[in-house]
Amino acid sequence: MRIAVLSGKGGTGKTTIATNLAANKKNSILIDTDVEEPNSHIFMKPNIEENIAVKVNYPVVDTDKCTLCGKCGTFCRYNAILPAKNNVLVFEEICHDCGGCELVCPTGAISYKQREIGKIHCGKTKYDINMKYGDLNVGEVSGVRIIEKLKDMTKNEEVVFIDSPPGTSCATVAAIEDIDFAVIVTEPTPFGVSDMKMVVEMLRRMNIKFGVVINKAGLGDDEIYDYCKSENIDILEEIPFDEKIAKLYASGDLLSYEIESYKEKIMTILSKIA
Ligand code: SF4
Ligand code: SF4
Repeated sequence: MRIAVLSGKGGTGKTTIATNLAANKKNSILIDTDVEEPNSHIFMKPNIEENIAVKVNYPVVDTDKCTLCGKCGTFCRYNAILPAKNNVLVFEEICHDCGGCELVCPTGAISYKQREIGKIHCGKTKYDINMKYGDLNVGEVSGVRIIEKLKDMTKNEEVVFIDSPPGTSCATVAAIEDIDFAVIVTEPTPFGVSDMKMVVEMLRRMNIKFGVVINKAGLGDDEIYDYCKSENIDILEEIPFDEKIAKLYASGDLLSYEIESYKEKIMTILSKIA
């Protein structure tokens, strides 16, 4: 079973819920696919045993074979390859490694080289489960290949918790494709409700079942409850706005291992997902 924890925006408590769920489910594995800003490992404290480089292809043009016909530039929707007057310019950082320019080149002038865009770190956590997290290199535009690799590496695991990127970007879609259930973490504020609506729309279009955890309950107003009721959305649990949680977060501790009442809440979420 693959369960993704996602949110409409950063800072809602997505990682708090993802790490606590995984740490309380024996034989599960946690993958942090928020590769631009991974932070699950700060709480799970894995003993890193393996670091795997993730590489992508980028095109290289053989000037002897190139006729400057322009077909590669016309094809590339990312403007990563640009036939100019005397040569073909390649902007490898914005190439999405789709392989299309090679296919449309009539003279076979295009081949590929590889470059590293980030790493996947793998290890055993202090909570006796394994975790893997992706880490995109600074300056790279897309971490989708790292996310795909993380998912591929865990495709045979029995229970996988996915700490997803926030929002509804390509990276989020890559992280949640093929999951069985999504947990949306939101907060009862106007921003929380507004951003959650986009996530709900995305999940419905992708035909993914989901429920909501309201974090920082008691902080804002009732709009989130009215919205969930009107849309027939299950509220799995509420986590109150509590200074103790902020202190545990700041010290890198899991609330379910420090406060019994929060462990019960996490167990409730797990049982409702099951
Ligand atoms: S591989 Fe795709 S994205 Fe990269 S330059 Fe070629 S057409 Fe553009
Ligand atoms: S499609 Fe091939 S031949 Fe045409 S400009 Fe691009 S690299 Fe050169």
